[in-house]
Amino acid sequence: RAKAEGRNRCQYFTAEMSSSTRRRVEIGNALRYAIRNAELSLHYQPRASLDGGGMAGMEALLRWDARLLGRIAPSEFIPLAEQNGLILRIGQWVLNQACRQAQAWRQRLGVALPIAVNLSARQFHDADLVRAVEAALQASGLPPRLLELELTESMLMHDAKRTARTLAALKAIGVRLAVDDFGTGYSSLSYLKSFPLDYLKIDRSFVSGLPEDRNDGAIVRAIIAMAHTLGLKVIAEGVETAGQLDFLRAQRCDEVQGYFFSRPLPAPEMEAWLSRPEAERSGMIPPTPAGGE
Ligand code: C2E
Ligand code: MG
Ligand code: MG
Ligand code: MG
Repeated sequence: RAKAEGRNRCQYFTAEMSSSTRRRVEIGNALRYAIRNAELSLHYQPRASLDGGGMAGMEALLRWDARLLGRIAPSEFIPLAEQNGLILRIGQWVLNQACRQAQAWRQRLGVALPIAVNLSARQFHDADLVRAVEAALQASGLPPRLLELELTESMLMHDAKRTARTLAALKAIGVRLAVDDFGTGYSSLSYLKSFPLDYLKIDRSFVSGLPEDRNDGAIVRAIIAMAHTLGLKVIAEGVETAGQLDFLRAQRCDEVQGYFFSRPLPAPEMEAWLSRPEAERSGMIPPTPAGGE
């Protein structure tokens, strides 16, 4: 960690810097204080089960409201945090906060829903990852089966032996493993049969063209069929329309996530939703009609 800090000394502007470089430098500098200044928070996006129609879990998504720069998107600051090493501390903060929040809701509201946390490549390859996950679970008291870790295909492709060891160690703790953005990464599929994965999350770029786009339809159908043959559950990301939902339901997709149901919510809003009676919440999406499709 000290090494990462050393590499992350404050950088200064020079007249020759382009505005995009200046922005990156500014963000990189501000990010060093984000945790200490309590500028980070998590939003929570629910996902729904297509069997029962109820809420199947939620994904923790990082938000950064920088004191001077305002709201900055994860797609902008996470790659920077990966480069300067801050992602390790930020990632640990996310793990701890997500576990603490999920356990608080479990204890206060009696809802035992799994929470998914995105891991970055650097975090995944860090020698301390397994300990970091254990620490977050222990500190919060969250049962391991309620934590899901989202990985990407490219993370799994580096060093098959080492990856297999890491995944086995995570599974031994009892957490669940998901492949995020599935279909956009490395083309080899051989890892799917050898690694102990639980979920594939179909990338929203394949969902967005449904139901009209025949290529997207073919890809989504194939992913679902393959995943089920391999014993994996499928979550579709980025579901925005009833037409997409109908297609996914007809293809026996297991779970769905997207703006059609809910945007990622700040903790108090998610808490208000979770506080509603279960009968009301399970009406979040229409359940599959009996004998339907
Ligand atoms: P992701 O893990 O694939 O997360 C889903 C992204 O899609 C989120 O963007 C979410 O707000 C957005 N989304 C959800 N439903 C819809 C929809 O129906 N339509 C559209 N257009 N978008 C939808 P967000 O929160 O901006 O995060 C972007 C990416 O940043 C995430 O993609 C993830 O890779 C990364 N990220 C977010 N939080 C963390 C974190 O705590 N740690 C790490 N390492 N990465 C994170
Ligand atoms: Mg994700
Ligand atoms: Mg992700
Ligand atoms: Mg994704």
